[in-house]
Amino acid sequence: MSVMYDVVIVGAGPGGSATAHFLAQGGLDVLLLDKAEFPRDKTCGDALSPRALAVIDEMGLKTRLRQYGAASQEVEFVAPNGRSVHAHIPKHAGLSSETRIVPRFELDNLLFQRTLESGVTSEQGVHVTGVEIEAGKVTVQGRRKGKQIAFQAQLLVIATGASSKLLLQLGILEEQPQTMLASRVYYKDIQNLPQRLIFRYDDIVLPAYNWIFPVSSSSANIGAGFFRVGANAHKMPKTSQTALEKFLQTSSLKSLLKGARQSGPVKGYPLRVDFSTARTYDERIIIVGEAAGLVNPLTGEGIDYSLESAQIAAEFICDAFMQGEFSAEALSGYDALLREQFQDQFVANTRIRDLFFGNAIALNSLMKAMSKDENINQIVLNIALGQGKAKELFHWRMLARLLRYSVF
Ligand SMILES: Cc1cc2nc3c(=O)[nH]c(=O)nc-3n(C[C@H](O)[C@H](O)[C@H](O)COP(=O)(O)OP(=O)(O)OC[C@H]3O[C@@H](n4cnc5c(N)ncnc54)[C@H](O)[C@@H]3O)c2cc1C
Repeated sequence: MSVMYDVVIVGAGPGGSATAHFLAQGGLDVLLLDKAEFPRDKTCGDALSPRALAVIDEMGLKTRLRQYGAASQEVEFVAPNGRSVHAHIPKHAGLSSETRIVPRFELDNLLFQRTLESGVTSEQGVHVTGVEIEAGKVTVQGRRKGKQIAFQAQLLVIATGASSKLLLQLGILEEQPQTMLASRVYYKDIQNLPQRLIFRYDDIVLPAYNWIFPVSSSSANIGAGFFRVGANAHKMPKTSQTALEKFLQTSSLKSLLKGARQSGPVKGYPLRVDFSTARTYDERIIIVGEAAGLVNPLTGEGIDYSLESAQIAAEFICDAFMQGEFSAEALSGYDALLREQFQDQFVANTRIRDLFFGNAIALNSLMKAMSKDENINQIVLNIALGQGKAKELFHWRMLARLLRYSVF
């Protein structure tokens, strides 16, 4: 326990690995801990938005990433009434106009290996069970193969994803936050698999969606997710696995998967979408990615926010080391940066989810408008991708246009 690191990071998912990489590039001595041994899987839909791709490119992984998965330039939405709406990924300043579906088994290992190339020290198979904050240092305690183990650093980054145990123990979370629930399964040997992201809102209780994301020309990540909120909360399936089983029994899925083979088990996991009220720092502690509730409450996409918050955190932490200041007050500047970038988006996207995506009539109208009006189509897609201003949808002129489309 004699080594004193500058920063210890708990969790080597996209958020933790990207933070580690950018901190090491900034010259800090970083220890990255994870309870898993890499390569490891993470239950996910595997879709990388243009924003996620931009950060991965900045990590120097542009060419290597593109050896995995499949690219998609198009999205299809199927409305509750069965209307199908197609949209192309909008061109947005500095971002590519494609998404990429890369299984997390491959993506997370790529990001993790990148941290080692950048000079990060890593300890795998370490389940962190406790943290002590003392004058001048943080001590992180954990268990590896049944043995107690401890590490010391000046600052702790928590990037533990939706697993809230450590945050509850530290009192950073007062109670288990409300989560979205989602499950996914892989299928291979699919004939005629459309090479686009498909979101289906038919045959389900809203707010919820089912998805089909192509991982290759003949294999796909298929999933179902829902929010237990609003008037329909009590009508939601018991588990996300049940929701996915129901999706797999629909006639459209049965027909798509005729002759295809399931590959691996159905897996479910919660998603934290509570950033707008979540705590993101404490004395000598910075919280990154989904551990800060950073998952889009409209789409369940969180990899992009984890990577972007990692970049923001790393830049902020490098400055904090120059000042030598790690009090909660000093670290609140990180929270201010996150709020500036994401707060309005999270508040607005939650409203959009509840107003439009939680109600079949409203969602049918929105999708009808998207099919008839290219401008509305692109605004909605930009909002869903977290690269547009949600306020645009609430402007009275836009609401009037939506109303007109819903009537005529
Ligand atoms: C079914 C499903 C579908 C999804 N689909 C998408 C999608 O298509 N696109 C998208 O962008 N997002 C999607 N998400 C969300 C996305 O998976 C997460 O938001 C993202 O993984 C968060 O990254 P992270 O680095 O913050 O946390 P994680 O990726 O969860 O990584 C956390 C890491 O911390 C480690 N850890 C946790 N606790 C401890 C501990 N006590 N000690 C040591 N290590 C610990 C874990 O082993 C893990 O490696 C989906 C989520 C689910 C559940």
